[in-house]
Amino acid sequence: MTDTIFGKIARGEVPADLVYEDDDVLVFRDLGPQAPVHLLVIPRRPIATLNDAQPEDAELLGQLLLAAAKAARLTGIAETGYRTVLNCNAAGGQAVFHLHLHVLGGRQMQWPPG
Ligand code: AMP
Repeated sequence: MTDTIFGKIARGEVPADLVYEDDDVLVFRDLGPQAPVHLLVIPRRPIATLNDAQPEDAELLGQLLLAAAKAARLTGIAETGYRTVLNCNAAGGQAVFHLHLHVLGGRQMQWPPG
């Protein structure tokens, strides 16, 4: 896959407002927040889209969800609640082709989404 801005962040080549990191996953604040708290959870190892995830990525996909919950606790939105979003490909609204989870909180989310 081609390199992306998130690949550069994962390698420490571009700065990000980090909330959490471990050997496999990073969580940082979105530059264009859509909620008072808007985090992005990415694997260090790039996977372009959810369509590209393989059975051997199952543990890593689980780690993304666990990191989302950890980052929600760290940023104080775990108890009030938050939304996770994973956009896939153009019609799904994906702009950066390095798999990522959005974590949105700090305000009331509406359902259904637009
Ligand atoms: P998506 O549309 O799901 O691909 O989401 C991409 C998200 O990445 C958008 O919400 C952007 O605001 C965000 N974004 C793009 N570049 C950066 C960056 N350098 N640091 C943090 N967030 C970014």
